[in-house]
Amino acid sequence: MSEQPLITHRGGCHCGRVRFEVDAPQVLRVSECNCSICSKAGYLHLIVRAEHFRLLSGEEALTTYTFNTGAARHRFCSVCGIKSFYVPRSHPDGFSVNARCLDADTARELIVRPFDGRNWERSYPEGRGDFER
Ligand SMILES: [Zn+2]
Repeated sequence: MSEQPLITHRGGCHCGRVRFEVDAPQVLRVSECNCSICSKAGYLHLIVRAEHFRLLSGEEALTTYTFNTGAARHRFCSVCGIKSFYVPRSHPDGFSVNARCLDADTARELIVRPFDGRNWERSYPEGRGDFER
């Protein structure tokens, strides 16, 4: 499964101002994080390298929220409040896309794995995570 070809998925926020493209396999491996912010939002993380993410529109509508170490840059649409992607603490040189914000027509399946973000230092003892590919 690790060598599935990448296809282009599209997604965005609720009001439609924020739109993006992301290159990822058809079967998406995503993580469900139990940290303070992800659990409240129900965020499903699809982690991609920076070159596999393209913001198409909505830069002017995005607002940035940080807390704790400030390493993660949570980016919300200031109009509808939806966080459709952001720069995660685990992968500061990439993006986390919210798999729940992808358009429905391209992903064949979501494989959801739990991630223990509440115990971040234990989950990522090196301080950050690796990309799967
Ligand atoms: Zn919006």
